Amino acid sequence: MATPIGNLGDLSPRAVDALAAADVVACEDTRRTGRLLEHAGVRAPRLLVVNDHTEPGQVRAVLELLDAGRRVAVVTDAGTPGISDPGERLVAAAANAGHVVEVVPGPSAAIAALVASGLPTGRFCFEGFLPRKGSGRRERLDALAVEPRTMVLYEAPHRLARTLADLAAALGPSRRVAVARELTKLHEELWRGPLDGAVAWAEAAAPRGELVLVVAGAPAPDPADDDAVVAALEAALAAGASKRDAAASVASALGVPKRRAYALAVELPS
Ligand code: SAM
Repeated sequence: MATPIGNLGDLSPRAVDALAAADVVACEDTRRTGRLLEHAGVRAPRLLVVNDHTEPGQVRAVLELLDAGRRVAVVTDAGTPGISDPGERLVAAAANAGHVVEVVPGPSAAIAALVASGLPTGRFCFEGFLPRKGSGRRERLDALAVEPRTMVLYEAPHRLARTLADLAAALGPSRRVAVARELTKLHEELWRGPLDGAVAWAEAAAPRGELVLVVAGAPAPDPADDDAVVAALEAALAAGASKRDAAASVASALGVPKRRAYALAVELPS
């Protein structure tokens, strides 16, 4: 079941009922969930800690409770379980064992940021947190460069400027982004603009608190643009650059995704 991402007023009456009816509440942090129960006016049931480290081991304990006919409510510190949070394994195990899984929908920072972003909502993808470094991060950024759907990412404040800079390098500096900060809280803020502007803002303002990035999808490739890219690639190849280097320099000069420039480069004669 979902719990507030900041504003306790977002705890739904149905969520309060579900907490009150639970024999056991699986939660990430007993103190935090204890405060939520107190706010909800629910007498604390038994709490079972299920976090990123304990979830694999706690699955059996939860299944035993369900087998014994107990009701288990699953909450996390904030938002919707299973969305960059524990819960996925518990739900899969309960469903596979034939138990009824009821959902109590409610706040999720990803959906809240998407709808407030002003970017297209018709098709979107959720990326959670990007891999922090290495080839995993590079490969994900390359894939995002050609992703046509609006992208929703979570990020920690101390990595915001770096991640925006990496996105600007991979997707092009003019791609639109919305950075949603501290949603539903006192200092809620939405920054909207191009990725290069977002980098400058993040470096200057060093925004704190919780953040979601919503990035516009790649525009459909315009064959007319391809002509300009191909002409620049041919010039770079004629000057002796390898296809990989030519693609990298043309991509950054023309502000097109590296993956697209490389795809056009490999089709050119060596
Ligand atoms: N399961 C949660 C949900 O449904 O939103 C997300 C949990 S994830 C561990 C925590 C991340 O969600 C934060 O690092 C931040 O990126 C985002 N987040 C959570 N609350 C937020 C808020 N009030 N405003 C902006 N982002 C938030």
